[in-house]
Amino acid sequence: MTDLTLYPNRDYSVLRRHPWIFSGAVAKVDGAPAPGETVRVLSSDGAVLGAGAYSPASQIRVRMWSFGAEAAVDEAFVQDRVGRAVGARALFLAEGATNAFRLVNAEADGVPGLIADKYGDWIVCQFTAAGAERWKREIVAALRRFMPCRGVYERSDVDVREHEGLPPATGVLAGEAPPERIEIVEHGCRYMVDVREGHKTGFYLDQRDNRNQIKRYANGCDVLNAFSYTGGFGIAAVAAGATSVTHVDLSAPALELAKANTALNTCHVEESQFLQGNVFEVLRKFRDEGRSFDLVVLDPPKFAESKGSLMKASRGYKDINLLGIKLLRPGGVLATFSCSGLMTPELFHKVVSDAAVDAGRDVQVVMRLQQAEDHPEGLCFPEGLYLKGLLCRVW
Ligand code: SAH
Repeated sequence: MTDLTLYPNRDYSVLRRHPWIFSGAVAKVDGAPAPGETVRVLSSDGAVLGAGAYSPASQIRVRMWSFGAEAAVDEAFVQDRVGRAVGARALFLAEGATNAFRLVNAEADGVPGLIADKYGDWIVCQFTAAGAERWKREIVAALRRFMPCRGVYERSDVDVREHEGLPPATGVLAGEAPPERIEIVEHGCRYMVDVREGHKTGFYLDQRDNRNQIKRYANGCDVLNAFSYTGGFGIAAVAAGATSVTHVDLSAPALELAKANTALNTCHVEESQFLQGNVFEVLRKFRDEGRSFDLVVLDPPKFAESKGSLMKASRGYKDINLLGIKLLRPGGVLATFSCSGLMTPELFHKVVSDAAVDAGRDVQVVMRLQQAEDHPEGLCFPEGLYLKGLLCRVW
C-alpha cells in the first residue's frame, strides 16, 4: 500500500477520527496513487494513523476508511461497511412506517462519498468521492446482498463530483430499470418519486420525521408550504386535517408531482393551491395583499455553498423568515429549516431571532428539529449535521 505522510502537528484531526485530510496537511506521498486508491496514512514521525481513499484532484485529498493500525481495504471490508450500515436500518423495515429510507449515509456510515437510498423495491445511489467510485462494483453487490431489490439506479449527477475529477453518471447499475415514478409510503402519506429526474436521489428523505411532526399542529390550519418541492409538508398537513394548503415552488415538474401526490392522497384536493414562483417574491406579494396563515413551512434549498457566501445566505434566511413570521396569525406555527451545513444551529437560531425582532413578534421555540435518524451524523464529523430546523409558535 502507498504511504502518505502528514506534516508535523497535522495529525490531530485524524487522531480525533475525523474522516477528511485536506491537501495542505499532506507532506509526502510515495509514488502517484490512482484516484480512489487506498493509502496508508502516517504521522510525521511514521506512526500509522489508518487507511483512506486518495483523491488527487480534490482539496479533500484523503477520506479515511479506517483508523488505527489495521488497514486492509478490500472487497470484504467494503462489504462489511455496507452490511453494517444496511443492518442498522433493520428497524425501518420492522416498523413499516415507511418503505423509503437512507441505507448508507456516506462518512457517517463509514463509506465516504456513498449515498444509498431505498425507494420501495429500488435502491438509488450517489457516488460523490473517488474512493466510493473506485469500489462501485463491490458496493452495488453488497447493497443487493444485504437489501434485495429489483434494481440499483445511479444518480451521480451532482456538482461535487467535479471536485473529485469525476464526470456525472446516471443509469442502471444492476437489475431492472426503475419506473418513471416509484410510489412510496411515509407515515400514512403516499408520494410519487421521480428517481431519474427528481432532486437528490428523488425525495427529501431527511425531512421525514419533520413532515410527520408538523401534522400535530396542522388540524384546521391554513398552511403555507414554501419551497414545497413535490408537496411533502403540505400533503402531510392536509392529511392531518389542515383546511387549506398553498404550495410554492420554482420548479414546474416538482409542482406537477405535488398535484399528482395530492390526488394520490385524496384529501382536500380542491383546497390545495399550487403556485409556481419565487418564494421571496410570492411571500412579499402575500404580505402586501394582507394574506395570513396558521402554519408556515419554510424549507429552502442550500443557500450557503461556501464560507464566503454565508453572510449573503444569512440575509436570505432572515428575509424569508421575516416574511414568514409576518404572514402568521397570532398563535400560528412556523416550521423553518436550513440545510446548509455551513450554517450552524447557533447561527440559524440567531438569524431566525433577528427576523422575529424585526417583525416585532413574540416567538417561542417549541421544538428543535433535525435530519431523520436514517441520516446519522458521525460524532467526530460535525459536518454531517446539515439539516436543522426550529418549530416556533408566533404570537
Ligand atoms: N420541503 C420539501 C423539500 C424542499 S427542497 C419536501 O419536504 O419534499 C427545496 C425546494 O425549493 C426545491 O423544490 C426547489 O425547486 C425550490 N426552490 C429553490 N429556490 C426557490 C425559490 N427562490 N422560490 C421557490 N422555490 C425555490
